[in-house]
Amino acid sequence: MEFGGPGLKSLSADERATLCNMATECSARTGICEADDILYDWMEGRMSHLDMTEQRSRAIEPDEGAEYHGGVHHIDLSTIRPMVAHPGNPDEGIPSDPTNGAYIDEIGDVSIDIAYGGSCTAGKIDDIAYYARVCQAAKERGLTVREGVDFYIQYGSGIVKDVAVSKGWHQLFLDVGVKLIDPGCGACIGAGPGVSMTPEQVTVSAINRNFQGRSGPGKLYLASPLTVATSAFTGSIRAWGLNAL
Ligand code: SF4
Repeated sequence: MEFGGPGLKSLSADERATLCNMATECSARTGICEADDILYDWMEGRMSHLDMTEQRSRAIEPDEGAEYHGGVHHIDLSTIRPMVAHPGNPDEGIPSDPTNGAYIDEIGDVSIDIAYGGSCTAGKIDDIAYYARVCQAAKERGLTVREGVDFYIQYGSGIVKDVAVSKGWHQLFLDVGVKLIDPGCGACIGAGPGVSMTPEQVTVSAINRNFQGRSGPGKLYLASPLTVATSAFTGSIRAWGLNAL
């Protein structure tokens, strides 16, 4: 899959990594994004040994009038509403996501036991910034994680954790009751804190896949980092927005 256009230019390198990571869920072998200054700046900030003039000269672009076997699909990012992917149970013939993405404002009241922010697609610096945005708002309102909910955040790497510490997010998370986990794959692969223990438990998670049993026997909804963090304070699945808390 190839991503491009004005919408892509509004996404950070972190967000583009998530986009490409998830291309496999569309049966694509990989995902690639058009290169632009956002990417070059990101590379330059992390890989000082690179000759950026050379890197820019090596970039390739789609041919004029290129044909794509899967067609060209236009997505207006301004029309996207917050969604979740439903938990499923293939053993009982329930597909993992019967609606291919349900709008949060249409799923009713879904109480949660676990909110989990982490994994390679939702433990990046941008993602941690999203969790911090919600946690800061919660702190200013005098809120802590809702009683009965465990909110875990697992950093995607040591570098991400260092950034969180330096920006004060790490302490902010502790202040509002988040349970922090050192970097790793963690609950995404059914390992460590954040994994459900019973079939009745409900999780809202920013990990990337919710195959039955992957992260414990419970019901796992996939959602964005903003939704996961908001839900941790409200106790049921809620999208972030004005007056969300
Ligand atoms: S187990 Fe999860 S967090 Fe780890 S690499 Fe795979 S998808 Fe990413």
